[in-house]
Amino acid sequence: MIIALVAAFQLAASAAPLESLTVRDASRSAVVALVPSDGGSLLRADQLRPIVPVIVSHVTGSRWMLIVGGQSIEIEEGTRFAKAGGQTYQLATAPQVRKQALYVPLQLIAEILPRVAGNLAWDPARFELRAFSTPDKYARVSDSNARKQATPVLAQTVAPGPLRTRRLVVVDAGHGGPDGGMHGPLGFGPDVREKDVTLAVAKRVGAALNERGIDVTYTRTTDTLIALSDRGRIANEARADLFVSIHVNAANPGWKDPGGARGFETYFLSEAKTEDARRVERMENEVVKFESSQAARAGDPLSFILNDMAQNEHLRESNELAELIQRRMGVVHPGPNRGVKQAGFRVLVTAFMPAVLVEIGFGTNPGEAAYMTSPARMNELSGAIADGVLEYLRRYERRVSSTGSAAGGQGQR
Ligand SMILES: [Zn+2]
Repeated sequence: MIIALVAAFQLAASAAPLESLTVRDASRSAVVALVPSDGGSLLRADQLRPIVPVIVSHVTGSRWMLIVGGQSIEIEEGTRFAKAGGQTYQLATAPQVRKQALYVPLQLIAEILPRVAGNLAWDPARFELRAFSTPDKYARVSDSNARKQATPVLAQTVAPGPLRTRRLVVVDAGHGGPDGGMHGPLGFGPDVREKDVTLAVAKRVGAALNERGIDVTYTRTTDTLIALSDRGRIANEARADLFVSIHVNAANPGWKDPGGARGFETYFLSEAKTEDARRVERMENEVVKFESSQAARAGDPLSFILNDMAQNEHLRESNELAELIQRRMGVVHPGPNRGVKQAGFRVLVTAFMPAVLVEIGFGTNPGEAAYMTSPARMNELSGAIADGVLEYLRRYERRVSSTGSAAGGQGQR
């Protein structure tokens, strides 16, 4: 659907050709110069900062992306269309690039930006873009997919309350040491090294689990390399109930719009079902090149494990754990919910307990790079992951008490 706002806006703009607009929040204001062009005024998108924290990202070729409050607007130099939130908007004039800076039509700022980012408003009388401070806004924007994602098995809710038994969860920060994991983003944005983000988030997930009365063991708490097979061994030796591995996704550079890929997904161990799952599997297993040949040789019993009945029981449990974590993340994460997936991750193979691998977002996307490096957002996301774990354990306890047997195969401690 194309939304045509052009006629009304051109009338208003041509009636009062101004040379600048004002950007204002509760405490600051700034003047941004307007540049005339054939179809109406343009302005430099990055000059809205810092009052409007817009990320201007050159995706590839003539394609650009503006990211505001976790929402992206896709535009193209010389093209009179903008895409945002599943809508296509017609522009009065095309964006231009001058001296490597992106100039966007005033209309984009006055009409489209306030529709996309809920905390912005355009005041035509004052020719002013106002930013309201709504700190929760960014966090609460969640893709409608998140709501579609709930599966029947998760339809019932379990009443909140403390767990009857102390439980132990191993929290695994992906990568580390010489294995940096992915590096991003594509375009402008905060620098993301996967091993740093995973460690920061893992520590927060651990703290959030502690707050919920759950014991935690970490595979690493410093910037060090741990072999994939050792991560599972740590969990087995600790007789942990669950294993949760934290990672950051990276777009395939061969994709049509690699910088635009966003969203979060949770994996449990199985054979990869889709090409995309195989891509993530290859990426996360690649670390073995940093490991000693002995550690690498020890780590490939996937086909054996998948035929093992106890492990199949773990797969059902892992699937539920993944669904619950994914659903909780959907409440706070601005990116699309990419769902629960399966792949043959070596790190999950050797953990003999329900085990999941969480890809918290795409470090290649500038907006998600900003999201996953924000301390406040990391806290929130970690709390969501911990809530998913707690809900899983509550359900597990209820199943065990109603059947009188330890159906999940969790370690007895
Ligand atoms: Zn990773």
